[in-house]
This record gives sequence, structure tokens and C-alpha cells, in this order.
Amino acid sequence: MATNYEDQHPNKAFGWAAHDSSGLLSPFPFSRRENGVDDVAVKILFCGVCHSDLHALKNEWGVTRYPLIPGHEVVGLVTKVGANVEKFKAGDRVGVGVIVGSCMKCEACNQDLENYCDKLIFTYNSVDWDGTNAFGGYSDSIVVHQRYVLRFPDNLPADKGAPLLCAGITVYSPMKYYGMTEPGKHLGVAGLGGLGHVAVKIGKAFGLKVTVISSSPGKEADAIDCLGADAFLPTSDPAKVQAAMGSIDYIIDTISAVHSLPLLLSLLKLNGKLVAVGLPNKPLDLPIFPLVLKRRLIGGSDFGGIKETEEMLEFCAKHGIAADVEVIKMDEINTALERLAKSDVKYRFVIDVANSVSPK
Ligand SMILES: [Zn+2]
Ligand SMILES: [Zn+2]
Repeated sequence: MATNYEDQHPNKAFGWAAHDSSGLLSPFPFSRRENGVDDVAVKILFCGVCHSDLHALKNEWGVTRYPLIPGHEVVGLVTKVGANVEKFKAGDRVGVGVIVGSCMKCEACNQDLENYCDKLIFTYNSVDWDGTNAFGGYSDSIVVHQRYVLRFPDNLPADKGAPLLCAGITVYSPMKYYGMTEPGKHLGVAGLGGLGHVAVKIGKAFGLKVTVISSSPGKEADAIDCLGADAFLPTSDPAKVQAAMGSIDYIIDTISAVHSLPLLLSLLKLNGKLVAVGLPNKPLDLPIFPLVLKRRLIGGSDFGGIKETEEMLEFCAKHGIAADVEVIKMDEINTALERLAKSDVKYRFVIDVANSVSPK
């Protein structure tokens, strides 16, 4: 057995890493582990820039392992497969999402819910299979156990499709699990960013009436004209909020800042459901009266398992759904992250990794 890091990681790789909580990324040569019998080696083409990348880079959750190479919305081409791999072959287009490992034997893993495994391995900022730091998709290549590699449909664009691997599944999975897909019902999408804009498109594809709920009145034209929402509710307008009370069947709450749950709950009908997928860094006030008096339900959901992620990719390919993206070069990433912190992007940055990560 190889004993040192260099022997265990013979595959030269190149990425961009942050070394401290400034979060500033800079070129970083490193190496990937040897491709094992169950592994798939992937040349990375595009990688989406998720809001979680920003939180991790700046150590806002207090658990960041530096050096950190973020990126968990990866689309690439298979370059090599291990002896046990039958699902993929060299040249296949594949995706790698939020996780690259789990225990494979717990109740969650056995139900294809690896995303809820207690021993899951995140694509970055996690301890990888071999005990070393897992490095993400802001890099030229990645080696992933076959169970966590996703078939990427041919008719999904690699750049606009990349954000579906986190943003897409994060809104698709709760809609399926909580029964929020009945055609003709009314879906509210709270927050119009990376997650919210995909939720609008997926909601429309399920045949729902979609209302975007936002504190930014300036997003109305975009929500309706560009994304296809049916209506827009500015939470800053008390008269419009009053008029919308009790009119919505389901709400996907994508807001990651502290916000008012009572306001959102008041919009729900009898038996209405609100599912939180954003992660505010402080607890929210949750009054019980609005739940009890109208039999409303509130829940949460965290991305999705591998099987369901592939189902979501097929659904998006079939319905022509992809993210609205701004493609950037690798050396534009620090500026892009500053803009992302101010929500100044429509609606996802995607890095053209293959054409810009290398110093050559
Ligand atoms: Zn993400
Ligand atoms: Zn497990």
C-alpha cells in the first residue's frame, strides 16, 4: 500500500484554491488519487458557482478545510474507468454533483437517499475516501466512485445544464417528495436567485401556476417575461400581500437570508405546504397558530440522491429546462464571487473550466 500522498495521488491536476477565509482563489497545482476499480476519471468542462461555494470559501459555516477547491456542479467527459465500471465508458458526458461518497449500507443509502447518509462525502470541503482533502470542480479533472457519477443527457447543454446538479435537484426533490406537482395547483417560489429561477421553470413544466415571491420589486419583469412565471408578489407591498393571502398551495422557500415565515405561511391555503431549501445562518421565528388553524405543513429538504438527480436531469432535458447562466473564465472567479455575494448575477455563474483553468 502506498504510504505517502504523492504515491497515492499520481494524477497531476490543476485547480484554483483558497487558502484562508479571505476566500480569494488562486492557481493551485495538486494531484488526484489513482483511478481505482470502481472509479471514474473525468475531465472537467464546466463547473457552476453555487452560493455554498461562497459560504465555504469564507468559512461562514466554520467548518472549512483549507486549501479549498470548491465546485459541485460539474459537467465533464469520462477519460478512464475502473475494471468494475459498466455504466460509463471513456468519452461519455457525465455530471458530478454535491456528493462523491456515502456509506452505501445505511437506511438512507439503501433508499437511494445518499444525500441524507450520516457518512456522506461532499465533493469538496470533506474528507475523501482515502482520508485526504476532497477537492471540487474548480479544477481540470476529478476522480469519483462510479455510484456518484451521473449520466448527463446528450440534449442538455453542458454549461447551462451544470447548475441543475445542485440548484436543479434541490428544488426538484422536495417538489416530488412533498407532493407539490399536481397540475393546476399554485406554487409560490420565494426568492429569485440560482435556486428560485430553476424552481420557476420546473414548476411550469409540472403544469403549476407559478408566482414569484420576492423582496426585490425590480425582479418582476424578469420573473414573468424571461422565466415564464405567471405572477409576481413583492413582499414590500402590504396591499398586494394582503390580497394574496390564502391563495397558494405550495411554497418553495429558497431564501438564505433571515426572513419572515409568518408572511409566507399566511399566503398558503388550507392544507398548504412550505418547504425550506435555503439555509439562513440564524433561526427563523416559527409561530404554530398559522400551521394548526389551516392544517399547513412546513418541511425541509437537502438536494437529492443520485437516482433522483438522474431522473431530474432527464426531466429537464425532456422539457428543455436549463439554468440562465453567465459563463466566465477561471481568472474571473474572484470578481464573480464578489458579484454573487451581492446577488448580481442572472442567475448562475458557470466557469468554462476546460478552456481557462490551466495557466498555459
Ligand atoms: Zn450547491
Ligand atoms: Zn449511508
